[in-house]
Amino acid sequence: MSAPHTQRRSGRYSVFAIAREAMRLHSGWGRAWASPEPRSRYQVVIVGAGGHGLATAYYLGKNFGITDVAVIEKGWLGGGNTGRNTTIIRSNYLQDPSAAIYDKALKLYETLSQDLNYNVMFSPRGLIMLAQTEHEKRGYLRTVNANLLQGVATRWVEPAELGRLVPIMNLAGPRYPVLGGLYQERGGTARHDAVAWGYARACSDMGMHIIQNCEVTGVETAGGRVRAVNTAKGRIECDKLAMVVAGHSSVLAGMAGFRLPIESIALQALVSEPIKPCLDVVVMANTVHGYLSQSDKGEMVIGGGTDGFVNYTQRGSWHHVEETVRALIETFPMLSRLKMLRQWGGIVDMTGDRSPILSRTPVEGIFVNCGWGTGGFKAIPGSGWAMAELVAKGTPGPLAAPFGLERFAEGRFIDESVAAGVAH
Ligand SMILES: Cc1cc2nc3c(=O)[nH]c(=O)nc-3n(C[C@H](O)[C@H](O)[C@H](O)COP(=O)(O)OP(=O)(O)OC[C@H]3O[C@@H](n4cnc5c(N)ncnc54)[C@H](O)[C@@H]3O)c2cc1C
Repeated sequence: MSAPHTQRRSGRYSVFAIAREAMRLHSGWGRAWASPEPRSRYQVVIVGAGGHGLATAYYLGKNFGITDVAVIEKGWLGGGNTGRNTTIIRSNYLQDPSAAIYDKALKLYETLSQDLNYNVMFSPRGLIMLAQTEHEKRGYLRTVNANLLQGVATRWVEPAELGRLVPIMNLAGPRYPVLGGLYQERGGTARHDAVAWGYARACSDMGMHIIQNCEVTGVETAGGRVRAVNTAKGRIECDKLAMVVAGHSSVLAGMAGFRLPIESIALQALVSEPIKPCLDVVVMANTVHGYLSQSDKGEMVIGGGTDGFVNYTQRGSWHHVEETVRALIETFPMLSRLKMLRQWGGIVDMTGDRSPILSRTPVEGIFVNCGWGTGGFKAIPGSGWAMAELVAKGTPGPLAAPFGLERFAEGRFIDESVAAGVAH
């Protein structure tokens, strides 16, 4: 048997490739990406093969022609939060810098399958954030106005229209009646694994190395500059190092000798048994704190909240299932008849202002991309685009510039507690 990295590559996917493979009983499909052993040196090392790390690598190659890149992953690619989220995509944020980067991401998602030649199953089915208190209604009306100024199409919908859009919803709940909603028709979902796999395949096709099962255990610096990373597969030198490890960001920063304003907390989700189609939009109910969409398989994908304490567990817990489902069945009574199949958790990286960090660091040549917290899946293409520019040029472009680490020292917060404090 040949080594994995010398095995036949997948080639271009197309209707002709499917027809050809159908004729030969699908015996000719190659590997989607190579699994090479690491070299001793790369121009750029990216730690973390989640969506953000892989997208950073992809746009480094595509936009800047930098392909001497290794993406180093301690587990399997996409096995962190990228493979654990509830796949909601939207760009209806309040602050201008957020709207700019999330809407860039949404625009890239719209053509990502064609760009990567990989079906990421982007489904712009529409997204509604319910207002269930007067306070929440005021907040969302403000967001609609902000989005109007930013050129992000959202609108306010009254309960009567919501009833037509989401027939399974009980508008007149006893505690929290539905007062309306913030509707982004371009929002939706995508297949999370496919996003990671599509980027990985495209990076591998450009000659980049994706090295799985290879934990980074140390960062070497000298004279205030990055020199190398120590990994489970040996020492790897690099000119530039991008840390893109979500919930482990402060651990990696600690290896390089600086601190980050990040808390790592488990965020949980669950899915029900599959049922017939009954919900064709994504609905978020942030006051009671739960949200749901229906997967292509028919499962109700349900997201809950973060744990109330800092931790690094990737598991679900019973009280979260109970709290989330109890909150949601008031507004969606039919959920009470469903069996729940699976629950899980991911380690999210929370900043104080609920906005991400794309930044240079105190160590020359080290860049961080983190702080996407509970809502970074939707940002993957935009984040990768902006991070690639930061790494390639050494200074941030217009998308990344507002999200530098210095904002915490300057008190220049990008407050997204309404758009991202509890929502995803
Ligand atoms: C339950 C849940 C629901 C969510 N729902 C949504 C949603 O609906 N919409 C949305 O937009 N966002 C959502 N999110 C958030 C979203 O998943 C994350 O913001 C996003 O996936 C972060 O991607 P990433 O690439 O930065 O991190 P990850 O995908 O976590 O990738 C980081 C990688 O770094 C690796 N790593 C860590 N330490 C090391 C090391 N020392 N050496 C090598 N590798 C290392 C990890 O193994 C991991 O694979 C949700 C998150 C969770 C947990």
